[in-house]
Amino acid sequence: MALELNTQQQAAQAGFRRFMDEHVAPFADEFDRREETPAALVAELARCGQLGGLVPPQYGGAGMDAITWGLLCEEVGRASGSLLSLFTVHGMVAQAVQKWGTAQQREQWLPRLASGASIGAFGLTEPGAGSDASHGSSTAVQDGDDWVLNGEKCWISFAQIATLFLIVAQVEGKLTAFLVERDTPGLQIEPLSGMSGFRSAMLGRILLKDCRIPAANLVGRVGFGFSHVAGTALDHGRYSIAWGCVGLSQAALDASLAYAGQRKTFGVPLVEHQLIQGMLADMITEVRAARLLCLHASALKEARDPALIMETSIAKYFASRTANLVAGHAVQIHGAQGCTDRSPVQRYLRDAKIMDIIEGSNQIQQILISRHGYRGFVAQQNARNKTAQG
Ligand SMILES: Cc1cc2nc3c(=O)[nH]c(=O)nc-3n(C[C@H](O)[C@H](O)[C@H](O)COP(=O)(O)OP(=O)(O)OC[C@H]3O[C@@H](n4cnc5c(N)ncnc54)[C@H](O)[C@@H]3O)c2cc1C
Repeated sequence: MALELNTQQQAAQAGFRRFMDEHVAPFADEFDRREETPAALVAELARCGQLGGLVPPQYGGAGMDAITWGLLCEEVGRASGSLLSLFTVHGMVAQAVQKWGTAQQREQWLPRLASGASIGAFGLTEPGAGSDASHGSSTAVQDGDDWVLNGEKCWISFAQIATLFLIVAQVEGKLTAFLVERDTPGLQIEPLSGMSGFRSAMLGRILLKDCRIPAANLVGRVGFGFSHVAGTALDHGRYSIAWGCVGLSQAALDASLAYAGQRKTFGVPLVEHQLIQGMLADMITEVRAARLLCLHASALKEARDPALIMETSIAKYFASRTANLVAGHAVQIHGAQGCTDRSPVQRYLRDAKIMDIIEGSNQIQQILISRHGYRGFVAQQNARNKTAQG
């Protein structure tokens, strides 16, 4: 398996890094304080083809390969966790439409998502159903040529600016996905503020009150909403988040190396104290391991290998834990300086905690990974026993 970047991927990575260093990283703390991502930045990301990175060129997207998309998410995550979540949820909607949408839906929505004319948001979580999203109580009822949606979705990233919502609702007890445009009567968005992390991700609550949409806005089939449509979206979401966690961790590590080199205690720079060296060594090793797991998932994604799904869960689980460990050490190394809003390391730590919770919390990843491991072990034992008997 090739884990080296080719020359195009290296060039793309350098371009993403330049863009983020110029347009995002220096302002990310300010966006965080204002709890806002400027519309002009979103427009610029769309204009230069990053937001629609995975959409195929036939629909006006950049048609990035899996590794290039991962590298983009790493660079976005290095600059801002909140902005990473825009790439994540917008991409989730685009991926779901691309895989499960009708030809008409693909023609109608993919060019708009690629150009940023539509901003996508993903509406699965409800006040009464997060990790167990299949128990959501939002409903959709067919009425002539329309579907009528009722219910509530919460913690929806970029709901404040999104114009196209992928909503999962029960149709006679079967979870089903629908595309709902922002200006649909009966759809109301309430902004959420005061989050600890992802503060500029412009979260919102979605209220659906007799929200009537055309029959043509159903995605996939009745009953496919969670297992297939949201499943595709969440696989993509975990992939983007895993890479973004590598970026966040790298940013926290870089800040720590710089600070440890210049801050002196007891007459020597911090970097010369063995206990600080221990933290830096763990940070360097963890970041490297997380990046390798992401590259492994990327290679599987590129090869369309079904093992991708589990390897992405493992990458997301490991990379989000890495982000928490590395950002925690970064604050520790910075001492009081790391606890002020003048240092980005406290933002990294607040954002890292969110990474543990979104796209399937880490407890849910643990359940999936351990079940998969156990099933593989039993299958191997059975195969060995069969060989021994035969
Ligand atoms: C900043 C942010 C952005 C978000 N953006 C979106 C979005 O765009 N779209 C969207 O649909 N949702 C979004 N969410 C919601 C997110 O997906 C949910 O928060 C997540 O699925 C967990 O659900 P919950 O918060 O209801 O926690 P719960 O499901 O109530 O779980 C609470 C705790 O219990 C643990 N737990 C749950 N079940 C088990 C179990 N079986 N065994 C062991 N432990 C368990 C969980 O891991 C968690 O730690 C966002 C959340 C945040 C914080």
